[in-house]
Order: sequence, then C-alpha cells, then structure tokens
Amino acid sequence: MATVFNNKDRKGDKELGALYSEKLRVRKRREWRGVKDTMYDYGRWLYLWSIMVNCTMSKGFIKGMFRYRWMSNYLFVPHMLDKFTIGLRDEPLRITHTAMDFVVYDVAESIKNCMRGDRRVGNDVEYSQNCVLCDENAMTAFMMGFPTVKAILREVPTMFSANLLNQYSTTHYLDIAQQFGLPGDVCPMPEAEVGISIDDDFPVLGKCAVQVNTTCDGSLLGNGVIAKRLEREYGIPTFQLVAPMRHKEEDVQEYAANDIKAAINFIEDQFGVKWDWKHYFECAKRVNQTTRDRMQWLEINSTNYPQFVGAVFSLYNDTNYMGNCGRSADFPPINDKINKLVMQGYEKKTMMAKEYRHRCIVWGVQPQYCIDMLYWMVQCWGVVPLTDMLSMVIDREIAEEDTPENREQAYYDMAWLNENMIMRNRTHGGYKVLVDELWEFCEKMNADMVMMWEHMSCKALCGMHGQFEEQARERGINLVWVSHDLCDPRVYTRNAIRGQFSAYMRTVMREEPLDPSIETLPDDGNAL
Ligand code: SF4
Repeated sequence: MATVFNNKDRKGDKELGALYSEKLRVRKRREWRGVKDTMYDYGRWLYLWSIMVNCTMSKGFIKGMFRYRWMSNYLFVPHMLDKFTIGLRDEPLRITHTAMDFVVYDVAESIKNCMRGDRRVGNDVEYSQNCVLCDENAMTAFMMGFPTVKAILREVPTMFSANLLNQYSTTHYLDIAQQFGLPGDVCPMPEAEVGISIDDDFPVLGKCAVQVNTTCDGSLLGNGVIAKRLEREYGIPTFQLVAPMRHKEEDVQEYAANDIKAAINFIEDQFGVKWDWKHYFECAKRVNQTTRDRMQWLEINSTNYPQFVGAVFSLYNDTNYMGNCGRSADFPPINDKINKLVMQGYEKKTMMAKEYRHRCIVWGVQPQYCIDMLYWMVQCWGVVPLTDMLSMVIDREIAEEDTPENREQAYYDMAWLNENMIMRNRTHGGYKVLVDELWEFCEKMNADMVMMWEHMSCKALCGMHGQFEEQARERGINLVWVSHDLCDPRVYTRNAIRGQFSAYMRTVMREEPLDPSIETLPDDGNAL
C-alpha cells in the first residue's frame, strides 16, 4: 500500500460532480478553484482562444473549414483543457497549462502550414514544394539536418489531435475504410488514417513524403493504401523508412542506420540540398535536453510528491520528443518553465488530490486523450498515474559534438531514435521491452499498482496478457485491466472504461471513492 497523505487546504470546488449536468450530458459550468487559480485558469482560457482566432486568420483556413470535416473539432479545444485540469490547483495546474498550451500552439501551427500548402485551399505552391510529408508515427530525426526544409505531419491535425477533442471524430473514417473492404479488426488509429485518405480528406501538399512502419498489421495496411494515393494520384514520391521489429538487437542497428542514410539521400535528391551537420548537432543538443528533463520529471514522480502526470505528461512528451525531435528552438524555454514549476511543487509538497492511496504505472496503448481517465483516477480514487508506457522512451543521450566519429555515430543515433518512437518501442521489440521493463519501472518509481490499457486491436500487446497476469501476481502488484478500442468509442464507451477501473477498486481493493460524485459521469454518447 502506498503512503497516504492528507491535504485539508484545497480551495474551491470539493465535489467535482457538481460541474456536470445529467440533463445536458456535458459540464454545466467551469470549475471554481479559489480566486487566484480561477483567474489564472481563465487567463489561459483566453490565451487558447487567441491561438485559435489567430489560426482562423491564416491563409486558406476559411476555405479549409468548409472543405474538411475534421476541422470543426477544433472548436472544442478549451473543453479539452478543462478535462485535463479537473481538480488541479497550484503548480500541477500551471504545469499542465504550460505544457498543453504549447501543444495547442504547435498543432495550430501545423493546421496553418497544412492549409497554406494544400493544393485545394491555400495552394501556396512555392511553400508546398519546400515541404516533406512526414509520418505521424515517426521520429522526425531524419529531418534534423535540413533547416531549410519543412516537415509536415498532416495526420496530427486530421486524426490524432482531432480525436483528443471529439471522441467520435474518427468514426466516419473507420466506416469509410471498412466500406472499402479493409478489415475491421485492426487498430483504429492507422485504420482511421487510411479512411481519411480514401475519403480524400487529407490536405494535399509537399514535394515528397516519408512513411515509417509501426511494425503492426494496421500500420502496414494503412501505409500501402496511403502511399499509392500519394504517388499515383498526387505525384508525391514516397520513401519507406522501415524500422526493424527486434529493435534492441545489436545486429539490426547497422541496417537501421543505413536506412536513415537512404532517407536522408532521398530528401537531398528531392530538394537538391545538402545535409547540414552543424544544424544536426544543434538539434541533437536539444534532444538531449529533452531526455534529461523527462528523466528529472520522472525522478520527481518517483517521490511522494509527483507533479507532472497524466495525459498531458504523455502528450507533451509525444510532441516534443517525437514530432519536434530537437528541431525547434521553441521547446527548451517551455521545458525550463516546467522544470521550475516541478521543482517548486515538489519542494512545497503540492498535491493534486486530498489523499494519495496508490502509486500507479499506466501501461499499454492508451485512449486517455479523449477521456479524462488519469485525472479522474486521482480525483475519484486517489490513484496517482506516475507515468505511462508512451512516455518511457530513450534514457541515454546521443552524440552532440561535431567530430568525424560522431558524424558516423549520428546515423546510429537517428536510427536509435526512430526505433524508439513512442508506442512501437514497447509494443514491438519482444517481451523484454513490453513486460520485463515494466516491473523495473514499478520498482524504480515505487509503484504498487499497474493500470493496463488493454487495447483490444493491438495484437502484440494483447498477446502478453497472461504473462502480465502471472508476473504481477508473483510480484504482489495490483494489476487493473481496462479494455478499450482506442479511437473507436462505439466499442467501449467512457463509462464502460471507467466502470472497469471502479469495479476493480471496489471488489478487489475493497475501497470507496475519494469523491463519489464523479464515479459515474454523464458523458457517454456525446462527442466531448
Ligand atoms: S496501438 Fe498497437 S496496433 Fe495500434 S498503431 Fe500502435 S502498435 Fe499498432
């Protein structure tokens, strides 16, 4: 059993169920957090609207609003932040806003870039001809030495972020893919992407594209269909960067490094530019800062006073580690602000809920973005999500000084980053990365509980079900299974997801909720 603390000074709303309306099935009002924190939260709410208004004034945006069905989801951005900040005060509230507001800014920039270059709306041909379409499920490491070429991750605004805002954002595209004859038992994430392509709802821009495999069946299914459309219909040459399956093995590293070299050569040929080593090593320094900072946040989370947790911890890491991969100088100052707040919260012993009962590692591939599950776990049951599988990526630094040896090492480092893309680094690569390392993290972070997201369409993950069960029992770890089907809410609704967790807490742990008013929320069946 984890240590229990009591925090009697929580300001503002104490029973969070008061925020919801059974009749409306959405929140009826914003949370009262005491004067200071409510004013801060309101200021950030205004800031979010300013990002969105600025985005609407960009080239091609209005035309894009009428052309693309996924665009309307972005009206719900402020509501997403309300979900991610439920019950938060003081430093955790500020950490969440600092990280998430920058993620919103980054996605808004991505929408602007897509609309500007899109042949159908902005149609800025010169701009489009200077862009590479990069796979969302890829480290953009192979772009670290191309400062003048723009990487566009068009799946981020169309599929991934849209689904953070509206849990039904992908269902139309899943139906389209299946009407086209694609199997319905693959992962809805790559299937939704291929549905968007079949429905011709992706922005079309770029001189060339780089696709990266996720080494799972859904990704292989999707990439082939999307690549055909890119090459044959839009005339966009597409390079296939193929990460090895057993990415921890020594004997695959040379192959992976050569593949990175080939991707770089492809881009050099397409744009007639040379790889810039000076810029690469500047980016490498930022990748290393990202790694060091993430390790520090995890270290604080392994103490009794975790500060930076939940879906936003994961989303910020995804954006910074994977999408940015050291290429943007905008991230380090945000990291510095978060560092300061994390240390301040730790020193002040700031807590997110009145009591912490269990210390939990969240494992498996998560739908936690379109459901406020992790923040709900803290507020409803006093279970603190210390970290999640997608945030457990590289922990070693890459070569950052420009020397002849390091230029050769750099290909191996980029390959290592690519192999350790979030999700694939654990769902593929064998039982050691998926099962064994989980117990190591439980020990390091003093966790007594694991919440296993059982993503029913991710076969590599589900295949280990019995081994997780057996080994958790041997180690005395409380293992909670929570099934879901990622971005298809028709299979498991939000209350069906929360209900599995609550059933475990009541029947196995024999505990009552900290805040019973939110055990069941009236948010099933609505988009938000
Ligand atoms: S969740 Fe699993 S099946 Fe889906 S894309 Fe990731 S690795 Fe593939």
